[in-house]
Amino acid sequence: MSEPRPESVEKIWKFVRGFAEKSGTTFHPNPAVTEAVVKGLAAHVDELGRPLCPCNFYQDKQAEAKLRRWICACDEMQIYKYCHCLLFVREDGMPITEYLPEDHEGRQVYGLITDPTPDKGRALRHRAHTQSEPGRVQVPAAIEPGPTP
Ligand code: SF4
Repeated sequence: MSEPRPESVEKIWKFVRGFAEKSGTTFHPNPAVTEAVVKGLAAHVDELGRPLCPCNFYQDKQAEAKLRRWICACDEMQIYKYCHCLLFVREDGMPITEYLPEDHEGRQVYGLITDPTPDKGRALRHRAHTQSEPGRVQVPAAIEPGPTP
């Protein structure tokens, strides 16, 4: 993937800073994680015109970009406050999983991770448990969760 335009990177930084504040989340303690996701989102703005989540594989990116579900902040974030890219996390770097259905991949990978700011975020919480989880088949190695001990 080519380098995103600086204007797109700046636009995404502005968005993610604002959204972290609004949702009561923080960036990952490892800045490289945040920078990789921001860059991926900016590259999609250049390529597709929209900040499509960079942590999924899409059969048809153009078609997916026309839908709402994986445009950052995606449906999973707005409904469950869960960011599988680890862009919007708790201060300890863990993604919030407490609102996810128990059979969701995020709960299975991380266990129950509570939300320290339950009064913030989840603008689409009324949609919880009403949709099936869209398939994901790829998470970039740079932001993949580490091995469990
Ligand atoms: S998982 Fe959702 S909130 Fe997190 S970076 Fe991807 S689109 Fe944004």
